[in-house]
Amino acid sequence: MLTVNAYAAPSATDPLELTTIERRDVGAKDVLIEIKYAGICHSDIHTVRGEWGEIAYPQVVGHEIAGFVTEVGSDVSTYAVGDKVGVGCMVNSCRECENCRAGLEQYCIPGNIGTYAGVDRDGTITQGGYSTHVVVDEDFVLRIPDAIPFDRVAPLLCAGITTYSPLNHWGAGPGKKVAVVGMGGLGHMGVKIAAAMGAEVTVLSQTLGKKDDGMRFGAHDYRATSDPATFDELANTFDIILNTVSSAKLDVNAYLKLLRLDGTMVNVGAPPEPWPVQAFTLFGGRRSFAGSSIGGIQETQEMLDFCAEHDIAPETELISADQINDAYERVLSSDVRYRFVIDTATLA
Ligand code: NAP
Ligand code: ZN
Ligand code: ZN
Repeated sequence: MLTVNAYAAPSATDPLELTTIERRDVGAKDVLIEIKYAGICHSDIHTVRGEWGEIAYPQVVGHEIAGFVTEVGSDVSTYAVGDKVGVGCMVNSCRECENCRAGLEQYCIPGNIGTYAGVDRDGTITQGGYSTHVVVDEDFVLRIPDAIPFDRVAPLLCAGITTYSPLNHWGAGPGKKVAVVGMGGLGHMGVKIAAAMGAEVTVLSQTLGKKDDGMRFGAHDYRATSDPATFDELANTFDIILNTVSSAKLDVNAYLKLLRLDGTMVNVGAPPEPWPVQAFTLFGGRRSFAGSSIGGIQETQEMLDFCAEHDIAPETELISADQINDAYERVLSSDVRYRFVIDTATLA
């Protein structure tokens, strides 16, 4: 066992604090990763605050991990010491169900093992990336392209793949109109990726405060959802609406009416409360209301390579570990530009 520094939530209500945790010994198929950077996803906040259900404490979160391989097990064939690697939201799955066999481990039927707050095969609770090291099976490790700045790459491991996968699945590309609702961590990646795929992108944000940024990220149009005219002017417009909002307190029926015939509103935002969807809003225009969860390992590697090829990197603010609690408050008040990344050298 390896004892390592980490920043953990001691309860649903107390601030996160510096502590130590144990990492398992490096098994035959495992790699030991020295974590350099860890992104802060809104899911980390939902999880530690118990919004998605009760968890065990102390809990270390973080599923946007970038670092170097420092040790490999005897049967590891893909990675070597010194490789630049990433870990996203999953660290294992059953590998046998039809979804795993199709490379869709995120939809593993018995359930994938989450990078944090999951039950590992040995029965222990998985602990995430706000830490100096992690031990992961090589099959759930990604290779980080040199073309992407190392200190900005981590958010691709969740925010990047969570937006790339549905955009890919629902066919974002030339001739398609895509709206991205909410321009935070996921949303800003959704804008960059959809634009790089060739789609015409509109941002639907609460205000016009981030319009210049949105246009710089590749949007063609940027509208405030606080202005009722937005919903009149854009009725029956979009092929895909990617909803990244972390709260259910938005009028989903008003957004659904912005879909053109056969359009899909795909939800990646994960509020704890249900959305009130009206049947008649779906009937009109044969609309679909859908959801999507992260992405498989193979598709995550494809996304990293796509971002390298298209010169796409997350917009990040590098923080020290003692700023994590303040960063959480800024995420909650939509004051994030556009992802906080922890410099794990400060976890001393
Ligand atoms: P984030 O950085 O906080 O971004 C969410 C954005 O939504 C905000 O920046 C804000 O954008 C908008 N927003 C927030 N509250 C709103 C409200 N009440 N009404 C309207 N708009 C609001 O969060 P994130 O890290 O991108 O995560 C977003 C959600 O996705 C979270 O629920 C997270 O758990 C979930 N998630 C799901 C998956 C998956 O696999 N499906 C993966 C990762 C994360 P504007 O300021 O532009 O309005
Ligand atoms: Zn996430
Ligand atoms: Zn499976």
